[in-house]
Amino acid sequence: MSASPFALSPSEIALDRIPSRFFARHGIILSVLRLDLTDAAISGNKWFKLMPVLEQACQEGMALLSFGGAWSNHLHALAYAGHSLGIKTIGIVRGEPEYAANAMLSDARRWGMQLEFVTRDEYRRRYDSDYHDRLRARYGAIRVIPEGGTNVAAVHSVQEIWGLPALKHAACDYMVTAVGTGGTLAGLVAGRPAGAKVLGVPVLKYGERLLQDVKLLLESTGVDQDAGWSLIPDGHLGGYARLSPELARTLVEIEQRYQLPLDPVYTVKAFMALVRHVLRGGIGRGSHVILLHTGGLQGRRGMATRLQGLTPDFVGPLAL
Ligand SMILES: *Cc1c(COP(=O)(O)O)cnc(C)c1O
Repeated sequence: MSASPFALSPSEIALDRIPSRFFARHGIILSVLRLDLTDAAISGNKWFKLMPVLEQACQEGMALLSFGGAWSNHLHALAYAGHSLGIKTIGIVRGEPEYAANAMLSDARRWGMQLEFVTRDEYRRRYDSDYHDRLRARYGAIRVIPEGGTNVAAVHSVQEIWGLPALKHAACDYMVTAVGTGGTLAGLVAGRPAGAKVLGVPVLKYGERLLQDVKLLLESTGVDQDAGWSLIPDGHLGGYARLSPELARTLVEIEQRYQLPLDPVYTVKAFMALVRHVLRGGIGRGSHVILLHTGGLQGRRGMATRLQGLTPDFVGPLAL
């Protein structure tokens, strides 16, 4: 990590105990590992996922190109890292050029990321090597980073989360994480200490493909593909970036009660899925559960107004 100018000081990543009555009633201790505190701009799991490729790019002097949607935390983090380290970055964005004005992509452009907007059909080719050749013909010497930054090196890097000082004396029975591409999940599974299980909450509708991806990543790191992890299904609550009054209320209440800021796309869904899992009896009494705060707070800006508008519509009880 010698090249890193980032603010990550591992001692600043806290493990916060959440004084939740709901979890206490079920005999469960809940803590949150605050990866959102790594750096305001390159927060959470993206810091770990990008570190290997950033180090490589610093040595090679190559530009970095990657893919994402208009609100991609990954592209945002990559743009910021490129800006800080003097690495040229290119973002291939699914959608219309109008998106360039949104808060996330405005940051990215300000940090010097070159943006190219592509149709859904073209975006679908993001894993084709032919397509990468075409991108190379256009942009010259580039290193292509997969969507979400997920590759084997990223999975190895994510394993280091378990070595953070905050976890040193924490016996962990379950680590819970939001899942997009599955790279973070795979890294947590690969690096888990004996006895710890990892629960993944996919935030988008997923299929066999996600399971295969996670298993392939685990295979490539040499660990058992099937042991020590499972997914909590239906955590997407209708789809990626879908908001509901219940989600909005939960997010606001958690922030007020526990001074814990969550993001509406990933971390609050992981929290809500965990609550449902507890209600279904999925976690035994006496367990210590650690929710991984994977960051993403920069993405809240685009949704703040919608969240506020939805909050009063939820009148039901919340399990917090
Ligand atoms: C990208 C992201 C994830 C998902 O990580 P994957 O490794 O792609 O599964 C989870 N939470 C936040 C906040 C993210 O930005």
